[in-house]
Amino acid sequence: GEERPASHFKLNSGASIPSVGLGTWQSPKGEVRDAVCHALKSGYRHIDCAWGYQNEDEVGEGIRLSGVPREDIWITSKLFEFHHNHVRQAVQDTLDKLGVKYLDLYLMHWNIAFVPEDVPAGQLPRDSKKDPKTGKHLLDLETTENFVGVWKELEKLVDEGIVKNIGISNFSIRRTKELLKSCRIKPVVNQVELSFTFPQPELVAWLKKNDILPQAYSPLGSTGASQASLSVVDEIAKKHGVQGANVLISWQVARGCNPLPKSVTPARIENNIKLVDLSAEELEQLEKGALAQTPKKVCDQSDLVVPAYDIFEANNPTNNDKVQAAQA
Ligand code: NDP
Repeated sequence: GEERPASHFKLNSGASIPSVGLGTWQSPKGEVRDAVCHALKSGYRHIDCAWGYQNEDEVGEGIRLSGVPREDIWITSKLFEFHHNHVRQAVQDTLDKLGVKYLDLYLMHWNIAFVPEDVPAGQLPRDSKKDPKTGKHLLDLETTENFVGVWKELEKLVDEGIVKNIGISNFSIRRTKELLKSCRIKPVVNQVELSFTFPQPELVAWLKKNDILPQAYSPLGSTGASQASLSVVDEIAKKHGVQGANVLISWQVARGCNPLPKSVTPARIENNIKLVDLSAEELEQLEKGALAQTPKKVCDQSDLVVPAYDIFEANNPTNNDKVQAAQA
């Protein structure tokens, strides 16, 4: 039978997170303020931000403009990969930019750090070395266990109360296991790419088994329409009289993942929050359809998601998986 899609997910900390959040990556300044305001007025109560998106000041303006009380909104931000050696200042900068006193969730954006060459030596992360290709300083986390040290800093933010929950992003099963061995506070989420062409069913199942909520980034495939018009998705969308995007977003919620669709287009923002009841049969069709996607698409997807971060290819586990899948 059909079930009402969940409106919230329960986290291992006891907190409840709204089942759909507004993404803000590549939401341009000049547009993101109105997008956030429109989303909150349309019923969203969850905004996914990051220092690295370089628009948190306008996101904050959008929140204030909406008139929705701060405490009614779930705000996530992320520790940028330049800031692994000064976590407290980084989160303060995000709080100041957003104009809020606390975050509901703060994520380690990547498990690798790097800093531009011109950063003063005293501010370099521990064990920094240069990437021969780009000349940028980076950390080799295979050997330094740096992310465990960063995690301890994040735990202190929870003790302090300025961050209510902490989580990770772009972590593989292997690295999450390493973190679980030495953490005092368990990550509540792992935010990774979960799209129709990159559904990562093993990672999703493992995270759910370990009571870590998988958050789905790029749920529309980052370019939106391309995945929303794939045949299986399209067929189900037509049957329900909705857009492909609604099917993709509802499918993530139904498989226990927390989608974060991005849009700066008012009509799409309004549309994307509407979940549809998908039958067990439709969910199976979608899961199968997703797995049947070709590695070629997976590879294109990887280029789309991390255009400026080719140094991560060797270090980012989820992208490694993609590259391997594409080569297989
Ligand atoms: P999405 O999969 O959310 O796709 C966004 C694109 O889809 C935009 O071009 C948008 O266009 C378009 N779109 C939105 N709604 C519709 C619709 N109903 N029909 C057709 N097209 C639509 O991509 P993102 O990569 O932005 O991922 C979502 C969020 O996840 C990010 O914004 C960010 O918050 C997070 N993220 C996190 C990462 C991490 O490392 N932790 C990495 C990548 C993303 P338009 O805006 O013009 O309407």
